[in-house]
Amino acid sequence: MADLALGLLSELQCHGVRWQGDGGLARKGGAGPSDHKALSLGEHTAMVPMLNLASQASPYSAVPDARGEQAVIFRDGQALGQVRLPGVPSFYGLSTADGTPYWKIATLHSRDVLATTVLQHCIRMNDASSACQFCAIGQSLEAGKTIARKRPAQLAEVAEAAVRLDGVKHMVMTTGTPNTPDRGAAILCESAAAVTARVALPIQAQCEPPDSDAWFGRLKAAGVVSLGMHLEAVSEAVRARIMPGKAQVPLARYFSAFEAAVKVFGHGQVSTYILAGLGDSGDAIAQMSERLAAMGVYPFVVPFVPIDGTPLASHPKPSSAFMQALYPRIGQSLRRHGLRAADVHAGCAKCGACSALRQHE
Ligand code: SF4
Repeated sequence: MADLALGLLSELQCHGVRWQGDGGLARKGGAGPSDHKALSLGEHTAMVPMLNLASQASPYSAVPDARGEQAVIFRDGQALGQVRLPGVPSFYGLSTADGTPYWKIATLHSRDVLATTVLQHCIRMNDASSACQFCAIGQSLEAGKTIARKRPAQLAEVAEAAVRLDGVKHMVMTTGTPNTPDRGAAILCESAAAVTARVALPIQAQCEPPDSDAWFGRLKAAGVVSLGMHLEAVSEAVRARIMPGKAQVPLARYFSAFEAAVKVFGHGQVSTYILAGLGDSGDAIAQMSERLAAMGVYPFVVPFVPIDGTPLASHPKPSSAFMQALYPRIGQSLRRHGLRAADVHAGCAKCGACSALRQHE
């Protein structure tokens, strides 16, 4: 059977796919792309939502072969093409001396990205009046699939193994936001320093804008090469509704932080994650993306995926038509300001697996 057409990956990311096998190598809960599986087409790998309830109404389904190496994608019962399923990485079979499995410390995203949430706790997560409604950071901890705090030495040990055994090319270090003015920058610094002292691995750190721009220089000195500060929503009304706590950090602070961070990390090495489908109009996202790109900030626009167990589990997904109209507009801004995923040293914009934006650069 022929491979699935690449253009259909965007469709699959918006609708989700009904998975007709066991869980296999998938992410359930946590920060980042939860309830997803990785699907590969040639050189391209995409994270596609499959395990959440919202995907169970999708017209698309995936039937894996007996070895779990490939799957055939169907629409309304008609076979459309096949995809490859990345195998379980070798480092998942190892544990630290204290018996913690490596996969509880960091996981493989897409096919060559090592990802970790250094602090699996956030000041806002237990208060419904302030928590980000799309976030599932507490779920994987409750399910025993991760540990609350990944120590620098643990991260260094896992990163070394993931590079040596599985050819991991870059690393994403995100964190829940602690109750400190640095917003997690300090633990990202010590974590990045430990990893880069052990293995050559480009790291993207992700945090809220810290209290002082001096943290950007400290992060760089610790070995961080790219920085993500994630807006998620772009208009004030949507920010206040979807992420009431984080919306207390004014957009003006994000912009001053972006400006300062670009001076430290360079044009295109600072990025932000924007979730399309939370209520922002296409115009609002396109205008914000143009403003960001003009500053040298890569606007990584992804379709919102409703995660089970979160307040937005039943929130509508963006339609495929909405995303197909939006991506080319973001692509124009990227080209106008000389931003390319391939030039990003590390992180989500480089990986690109949660979005079809790369096809429109
Ligand atoms: S784009 Fe970011 S969150 Fe998505 S799979 Fe890649 S590294 Fe993970």
